[in-house]
Parts: sequence; C-alpha cells; structure tokens
Amino acid sequence: MNSTKNKLNKKSKMPFNINRKSFLGVLSLAYQEIIDSFLTKTKIKKPKEEEVLDLVRLKATKNDPKSVLKIIDAYAYRKTFLMNIGDQKGLLLEKAIKDSNAKNILELGVYLGYSTIRILNSLREDSKLTSLEANEKFARIAKEHISIAGLSKNHDLKIGTSSNLITELKEPFDFVFIDHWKDLYLSDLKLLETMGLLKKGAWIFADNVVLFNLEDYLDYVRTSSDYSSKFIPTLREYSKSHPDGVEISIYKL
Ligand code: CA
Repeated sequence: MNSTKNKLNKKSKMPFNINRKSFLGVLSLAYQEIIDSFLTKTKIKKPKEEEVLDLVRLKATKNDPKSVLKIIDAYAYRKTFLMNIGDQKGLLLEKAIKDSNAKNILELGVYLGYSTIRILNSLREDSKLTSLEANEKFARIAKEHISIAGLSKNHDLKIGTSSNLITELKEPFDFVFIDHWKDLYLSDLKLLETMGLLKKGAWIFADNVVLFNLEDYLDYVRTSSDYSSKFIPTLREYSKSHPDGVEISIYKL
C-alpha cells in the first residue's frame, strides 16, 4: 500500500496540451462519425459496430482474448475509428488492474466490450467485474465479443443509464474504470461516493481526460483531499498525433 501511495501521492497539474491539438482530435472524430452515419443511413454499409462483430465471428480464435482484441484494433487502425480504449492505453489499464490487486471492479461504459476483455483477462481468479452500458445494441455486441473471448465468467453486464444502475449496486468496489459519457464522469463518481460504493484505497481510472478536456472532473480529483491523483499523458486511441491522457485517482477515505 505504501508503494501505491508513493506512486500517487502528488497532485498532478493540468496537462499543457488541452488546446488546439486536442480540439482538432475531437473534430476529426466528429467528421469520421458524420461520414459513417451517412453511409449507414443510406444503407451503403452496415453500422461499423456490426461490421466489427461480423469480423470477430469470422476470424477470431475462440477463447483467445488477444485474437478478439487484435481484430478490433486492426479495424480501428485501418478502416474507421472506434471509441475503444485502444491498444496503448489498454496496456495502462491492464497494468492498473494488476497493480491494484482489485477484487471487485466496476466499468462505466462498455461500447464493444474491448476494455471489458482487457480487464477480464487481467483479473485474478477470485475477482469479478460489473459493467454498465446504456446502449442495448452495443451491450449485445459486447456480450458476444466477451463470450467469443471466453471471458463471460466473473462478469455481469447491466444495461441502463449509469446513474440509475449505480443506485441499485450493493457491494463496494476497489477499482472503477470510467469511460462513458464525458459529462457523467464527475456526477457518477460523486454518486458512487454518496452510495458508499468506493472502498478505502479504491482506484479510479478515467479515460480521455485530455481529449474531451474534462476540467471539472480533473479539478475535483486533484483538489479534493479524499483523493491522491496522478495524470498519465498518452496519445488518443488509434492516433499517432492527437494528445490524450488518463487520470488515476486513489480514494483515501
Ligand atoms: Ca475512451
């Protein structure tokens, strides 16, 4: 625990690059989404999420999580952007799961189950993951990806809005991965606190804190005496130039 505290005992400063480059990163994603949505609406192509599932069904090796991740990454690099945590930040997430020794993990935002597979594949045998996803279609695709990866054991995927589902959760968590709607990061973290769902020493791992300029969230975890918080600069998923970062905060209460 001491080494954990030492690693995270400094309040990080705001990253320098929340500016033009970050804005351009969001703009380029919005542009890709508009093109993709046009192609889908005009029935020129299937929604990209269904294309990915088709590829995973066709090409993945059953019960091999890495083969599922590889197919999803290849699609995002070569074809169209996917809002997964991606291969580089994904390694940071896996390391954090292992370093924290977490037994009861909560994931906010599942999308295609990419980060879910990385978390489940890094879990100890006696640990479990609860994932919350608001979009039924994404949840269905994620469930099948997770099943093909052979990781459905120790996993509970709940469909609904996070603020509703959090109020129904019972056991406190020692690790929370936040990667859902960006305007819900702070309110859902506060809700978890109010509901007594954070164990002392819980790790909170928040993705995309630079890409979406999450100043309110960062101000809160960096200035509150209830947290020790550390910023790790990264690139945006599947990008070689757009800045992003993750914030890892430890709940001290
Ligand atoms: Ca993300």
